[in-house]
Formats: sequence, structure tokens, C-alpha cells
Amino acid sequence: MTNVVVPAEGLTSLTAAELADKIHAREVTSREVTQAFLDRIAETNPELNSFLHVGQEEALAAADAVDKALDAGEKPASALAGVPLALKDLLVTTDAPTTAASKMLEGYMSPYDATVTKRLREAGIPILGKTNLDEFAMGSSNENSAFGPVHNPYDTERTPGGSGGGTAAALASGQAPLGIGTDTGGSIRQPAALTNTVGVKPTYGTVSRYGLIAAASSLDQAGPCGRTVLDTALLHEVIAGHDAFDATSVDKPAAPVVEAAREGANGDLSGVKVGLIKQFERDGWQDGVMENYHAAVEQLREQGAEIVEVDCPHFDEALAAYYLIMPCEVSSNLARFDGMRYGLRAGDDGSHSAEQVMSQSRAEGFGPEVKRRIMLGTYALSVGYYDAYYLQAQRVRTLVAQDFARAFEQVDVLVSPTTPTTAFKLGEKAEDPMAMYNFDLCTLPLNLAGLCGMSVPSGMAADTNLPTGLQIMAPAFQDDRLYKVGAAYEAKRQN
Ligand code: GLN
Repeated sequence: MTNVVVPAEGLTSLTAAELADKIHAREVTSREVTQAFLDRIAETNPELNSFLHVGQEEALAAADAVDKALDAGEKPASALAGVPLALKDLLVTTDAPTTAASKMLEGYMSPYDATVTKRLREAGIPILGKTNLDEFAMGSSNENSAFGPVHNPYDTERTPGGSGGGTAAALASGQAPLGIGTDTGGSIRQPAALTNTVGVKPTYGTVSRYGLIAAASSLDQAGPCGRTVLDTALLHEVIAGHDAFDATSVDKPAAPVVEAAREGANGDLSGVKVGLIKQFERDGWQDGVMENYHAAVEQLREQGAEIVEVDCPHFDEALAAYYLIMPCEVSSNLARFDGMRYGLRAGDDGSHSAEQVMSQSRAEGFGPEVKRRIMLGTYALSVGYYDAYYLQAQRVRTLVAQDFARAFEQVDVLVSPTTPTTAFKLGEKAEDPMAMYNFDLCTLPLNLAGLCGMSVPSGMAADTNLPTGLQIMAPAFQDDRLYKVGAAYEAKRQN
């Protein structure tokens, strides 16, 4: 086992807020900062495999542009101008390949930037490269990547989580101070918990999905990742906001997340009601995880929060509903990757029909988990099964949303462990899809209801000495509550 976590000193050990201060005060240039992270990537990526592509020249050019503007006396383009970032390889970029970690898209160059990418550029944030993930964001361990798994910096024999393991490992190892992930059923929060980092799934519709390669369109949402709650809030502010290119984008002012993170840092939670979900106190979950969770709740109470137990009876069915709805949407979204409209083309030697070429392209381009979901989804949507599976799952989805709504009549936020155990060994669940799916138990109800959630580090588990995360959940458009409670908890955490 090897440990490759953030170095104790040097530029790569600083938070994004600290780096921004230094860059804006001209104590250090954005080029120096960006180069330090590029060096760290060069040193550690062979072991971690967190980056699929490093854009050295492009990142340094973006850094130089920030330095030039600041030297000319211009105001920073954003609070994070000059601080570099790791971008999940599911968001399209014009200056780097976008693969979704699939052979289907190997080498694909997008003709346009995702709205999130565009906002990062406008904010003066250099993009270090594209991070590894489970193929098309399907998975919980990063082992479904066509380009090999990411290794957890806390123990390189273990998973960093998935699907956003690349971004999480980059943050935890000091390869990047900021990152972007996407969360369909937990892919931002779950890897954050396994790597001692912070990850936020914003409210559905508040961050543009334009240029985010779709897995399940009614669940997908891009979000900010960082090493502190404040850094994550600063990034959240950059990427959130209405976008006319995304039909599900909500035209509302963004929640005041930075203000909330700063307010929370004083540690005072008096007047805040925190709900504990009965269904997330289960036998069989790892002792070390539950100990840290109970310690976190105790601490929130000491900080002035009122703790209330709430009942969400339909959460027991949420996993089954998610793993029907998600594959159904996948089967439709991934139909475009057929070697004709998009993606790898195989068997096109003049002797095969168009149908044969499409079939062979999909057989060669997609990995086993993606195929499993396409088949499951196609089956569940077919005549005669639609009512029994898809429609039933949609009914459960409504019941889960109603459970949340009832809970939020009583409390301001809900908390739970982010994952039932700490990071498992690579290979341990690879042959058992159900065990893998079960790992998402705590995170996926939120996506079904379209709400927002955060995972914030809650200390090392006593039994495995690996990171754990506290999940905080809030109602739609109240993302600021996550930051207030998250920052307060982070400020006072003892363990
Ligand atoms: N692990 C879940 C899945 O495989 C969630 C993935 C995600 O959030 N992208 O579907």
C-alpha cells in the first residue's frame, strides 16, 4: 500500500482561496502556481491514473493571460482567477479530447465548449486537464473506465470512488486545488467521502448541462469539488446560473453560497434544525463510518443545532427505482453512439450493412457495464414491461420526493453518512453489480428528487484508518444551507 496524499508544504498544499489571495496580491504568479500543480501531476499520475489528458500548454497559456491582466492593473476576472482546476472528462472542451472514459469516444474533439467549461475560462481558471471516470459516468469505483481505474491517494490498492474518482484523487493528492465533477446518483459526493475532500451536487437545473455528455438527463448535474467548503463555494459561484442552451436550466438568481460558507465558518448553528433519517441507521454498515457519523451529529448539537429524527419510508425502494430509471435514460441517450452519428466506427470495410457496422461499433466501443445498462433500460422500456418497470419506478420516484418534502417541513437540512463503508479494494466488488449499486444507497435518493447535497470530510474511520464523509442535504434552491452547515462543521471538527 502506498500513500500519495497532498504534500505538507509548498504551493500545492494551499487552499484555492489562499492561492487566489497570493496571485491577486502578486506574491506569486498564476504561471508558478499552475506549473507547481503540473509538476505534481507529472510526479504522481503514473501511480494514480487520475488524469486522462494533461493540457500543459493550454493551462500555462491561460495562466499567463491572467498574470498579464493582473500586471496591467486589471481587477481579477473572478475570486478564483489564476487558480487551476481539474475537469471531469465528461464535459466537452475545444482544446482537449473528451472521451467519457470510453473507447467509443477515444480522441474525440468537440467543436464547442460546455457552458461550465466556458464559465471557467471566463473566470480566468486554467484547466490542467481532463480527469478519469467510470465509462459514461456509470459506476461507483472508477473500475469501469476504458483507460484503467484511478487509485485512491490514501491507499493506492483501493478505489477513490466513482464515477468521479479522477477529480477526487487529483484533489486529495495535490494534483489540483479545485475540480469539477458530475453527479447522477452520487458521483461527486461518494468519491469526495472516500478521499477526504468536499463535493457538492447542486440543485437540479442550477448548473448548465449544455456540453455535459448525458448519462441520465433527469438526474445528471455538474458540481464543484474542493478541499475546503469555502473553496467549493467559490467555484460553485463561478459555474451556477441560468443558461439558455439548457432547456432544464432554471432562471433564478443563484443561491448565496459564498456568503453562507463565510457565515458558517464562525461555527454557530443555533436555530438550525438538522434531521437524521431513520432509514440510514442500518445494521451492517461499517462501525468506523457510523462512529464518525454519530460524532458529527453530536458535534452539530454542541454547535447549537436542534437534532430531529425523520422518517423517509420510501428510501428503501429508492435504489431499485434509480437502477431502473437511470438505465432507461441511458439506453435512450447512448443510442446516438452508433459509429454513424457519433463515435468509433468498426467493421466499415465495404462488406457490411449499415446495421452490421452500427452493431459492431457498439460491441467494440462500449464496455460491459454500459452494455448492461443499455440492455436493462431497453428491456424496461419495451412494450409490455414499460408499465411494470419504468412507470412503477417513476411512481417510487414521486414517493421519495414526497418523503423529502415532508422531512423538510420539519428540518432545514438532513444529514447521513455519505457511504456505508470506507474505500474498498480495487477488484473487490468488480464481479458483483448489486454490491456495487448498494454502495450508492445514501446518495441517490437526492438525485431522484432533484435536490442538493454535499459531502464534507468527517475524519478517518477508527477501524480502517481511511476517510469518511458526512452528507448534508437541503431542499431545492437552498444550496446555501449546505455551505453554512458544512463550513460550521468543518470549522469545529475534532477528529
Ligand atoms: N454510481 C452511480 C451509478 O453508477 C452513480 C453514478 C453517477 O453519479 N454518475 O449510476
